[in-house]
Amino acid sequence: SKIRVGVNGYGTIGKRIADAVAKMPDMELVGIVKVTPDYGYLVAEQKGIPVYTIKDRIDKFKDKGFKVEGTIEDLLEQIEIIVDATPGGYGFYYKEKYYEKLINKGKLKAIYQGGEKSEVADISFNAYCNAEEALKANSIRIVSCNTTGLLRVICVLNNAFGVEKVRATIIRRAADPKEDKRGPVNSVKLNPPKIPSHHALDVKTVMPNIDIETAAVIVPTTLMHVHSVYMVLKTKVRVDEIIDELSNYNRILVIDAEKTGIDSTAKIVEAARDLLRSRYDIPELIIWKDSIYTRENELWFLQAVHQESIVVPENIDAIRGLARTDGYPDKSIKLTDSVLGIGK
Ligand code: NAD
Repeated sequence: SKIRVGVNGYGTIGKRIADAVAKMPDMELVGIVKVTPDYGYLVAEQKGIPVYTIKDRIDKFKDKGFKVEGTIEDLLEQIEIIVDATPGGYGFYYKEKYYEKLINKGKLKAIYQGGEKSEVADISFNAYCNAEEALKANSIRIVSCNTTGLLRVICVLNNAFGVEKVRATIIRRAADPKEDKRGPVNSVKLNPPKIPSHHALDVKTVMPNIDIETAAVIVPTTLMHVHSVYMVLKTKVRVDEIIDELSNYNRILVIDAEKTGIDSTAKIVEAARDLLRSRYDIPELIIWKDSIYTRENELWFLQAVHQESIVVPENIDAIRGLARTDGYPDKSIKLTDSVLGIGK
């Protein structure tokens, strides 16, 4: 039987997870929870997705003529797994108010996003790092977009060559494309004005023993984040060995700037649009081949992260881990990639 999934919060991340769940042959999207009666309701309705809300919002939906299926409690009764994609901090609130008692009774498992503190869940998660740990968890936190990008490449290279230490500078996008109230509009802002930034700590929620420090700045763009990643490996490496290793993984795309002309986030996004990718999503971590620099044990490269979609495949795999599906994690990762067209 299919894994019965609900999604709470139908924003940037939630709507993408909902669409991905609906596409998976082994999952059923039972419904989503929305608190604001806006155009997102009409989109869900057009897609045939049942919409639930919280009790004191039902009238607000009714006032606009939007029909809801019921309350969040009604949805939680019908599902095995809730994916919480509410704004950072709300996941904790929903956990305490709604999910926890069902989780304790063995009737529900929960997935939270990176805006929550790591204590919200049994484990923090990345499919290339600690997928197996999901099999023993009843709740999982998917780390943030920047952390997901860092962990993917760190874990792959750690398995192949051993990673001694990582120093990374994160150049963050200021806002998601839909966010018309965030900035900066014309500045480079230190985020925070100290080193290390919190991203290093977030990486350690999955890899507690890694030697990593990060710095971060915010720049006026909405498209993608860019990272400058410096590593010391446990062995000497050549550029071609790094490229060979990375090419074994669908969720990392090594692109040749010289050959393709794709030397900016704008051009990555344009390529995704030309490929008719839904919402121009790029769930793969993009690494510029030309930027890969090695000397003895040192490695340095530039990578780009599409913040709106990189965590979607991780959420799908985490669902199968919580559902204890056969062949997890390898079969899950393969199925997720093939259904979402990742690496193509
Ligand atoms: P968002 O604001 O786009 O979406 C959140 C949705 O939840 C909105 O539709 C909002 O209306 C709804 N909402 C607000 N209050 C609610 C409530 N009380 N109950 C239910 N729903 C409520 O936010 P997002 O960017 O999708 O972020 C969600 C989570 O994902 C956060 O933890 C964030 O840190 C994480 N995340 C975001 C990104 C990103 O780049 N946007 C990337 C990775 C992880």
